[in-house]
Amino acid sequence: MPRGDGRLNHDLLPGEKGPQDACGVFGVYGPGEEVSKLTYFGLYALQHRGQESAGIATSNGEKILVFKDMGLVSQVFDEGALAALTGHLAVGHARYSTTGASTWANAQPTLGPTAHGTVALGHNGNLTNTQELIDLLIQREGAAKRLDLKNGKCTDTAVLTALLGSDREDTLTEVALELLTHVRGAFSLVFMDETKLYAARDPQGVRPLMLGRLPSGGWVVASENPALDIVGAVFEREVEPGEFIAIGEDGVESFRFAEADPKGCVFEFVYLARPDTTINGRSVNAARLEMGRALAREHPVEADLVMPTPESGTPAAIGYAQESGIPFGQGLTKNSYVGRTFIQPSQTLRQLGIRLKLNPLREVIAGKRLIVVDDSIVRGNTQRAIVKMLRDAGAAEVHVRISSPPVQWPCFYGIDFATRAELAAVNKTIEQIREDLGSDSLGYISANGMIAATQQAEERLCTACFSGNYPIEPPVDARRLLMNQVEEVPS
Ligand code: SF4
Repeated sequence: MPRGDGRLNHDLLPGEKGPQDACGVFGVYGPGEEVSKLTYFGLYALQHRGQESAGIATSNGEKILVFKDMGLVSQVFDEGALAALTGHLAVGHARYSTTGASTWANAQPTLGPTAHGTVALGHNGNLTNTQELIDLLIQREGAAKRLDLKNGKCTDTAVLTALLGSDREDTLTEVALELLTHVRGAFSLVFMDETKLYAARDPQGVRPLMLGRLPSGGWVVASENPALDIVGAVFEREVEPGEFIAIGEDGVESFRFAEADPKGCVFEFVYLARPDTTINGRSVNAARLEMGRALAREHPVEADLVMPTPESGTPAAIGYAQESGIPFGQGLTKNSYVGRTFIQPSQTLRQLGIRLKLNPLREVIAGKRLIVVDDSIVRGNTQRAIVKMLRDAGAAEVHVRISSPPVQWPCFYGIDFATRAELAAVNKTIEQIREDLGSDSLGYISANGMIAATQQAEERLCTACFSGNYPIEPPVDARRLLMNQVEEVPS
């Protein structure tokens, strides 16, 4: 499914949402550097991970300043705002809300007092034991006062921030190392106090987190390596699952708060991460190309043209074309600037739906047998609209190929899919989904084909949204819900 401005989210049809990522995080320790600008450009490179709000906090060693607002990174910050954010230490965040409302108050970095000053924290992922952490917070004297626990206004990130400040004596490193042993779920954290930058990754390493070195000797932490590239930092290594690092004038100190039990999100390879990102040694672009090749082997069909739904289907469509020998072409043009409009389309425009973002190239499509490659189907509305659009433009046949297996289960680790009832593939056979889409044929890559393309061992990946096998226990409420839905899963 295409993303919007550049490579944003799946909400192709007005009102339709596909999988949404849960944030991009960035941090820099850079004496002598304009850290607010480095952070701005780092967040710019991570914009695809969250488009609702953006924020940057900086410190000059004595005082933390923060600026955050709703909107894209380029909408939130201007030269004046960045110039005011002085210091040699910064953390930044681009947010898509998967817990808590999409409001200014929930924008990150989240600030809170500590024993020795202030903490500013950015979080990518979702925690699965937030209630337990709230209980822990309430046990710790006075800390609960800092949160608005009523009316669901607090986020899991706000609870973490308050807990980091709930011990009045220890250093932030000591507090974090103790606290992280209580935290469950997916978390790639970047945070700071007045003098140090900190980062931590959950024991499963569900979401990526990279460490890089600036030419000047400073350090950068970011969700994906293109955010290191954009600021001229050299990739050093990934922050390891279960690792906590503290970066200050003495360099990088590494601590382990839990044994690593890697379960990286396979959907990062399928769709979420940028194609120029490398996760655990595997290029995301190369993985997507290979998914397309595997898809061609698993679901061949006679056709005249392989085309992607721009842009996220492009690498897999190229792989499909390479393997099948069928020419690759662009059958749809995309308006890259529609991705994040705050203006709701009028009723007439709403009915035109997908045309806001995509328009067919009739001379490419007319009379052709098309293979249309996309990365995933969530609700199916977008693919249905594309199939109709291509037929209206004169396509002789439309064959849909998907480079991930059917999405059947919700994600509790930071990706906001539709509810189970809304997922196109739940309780349906492939033939029923094909009928819904109106295509001539439909083929999904197998789970084995997808996993092999990542070059990761299966037991080191999370595949829960496809398999229902959750590597980290879902939250208590969700477990009850899932138990009630087990019978619904088609055999
Ligand atoms: S459930 Fe799916 S989207 Fe969520 S972490 Fe696992 S593989 Fe990724």
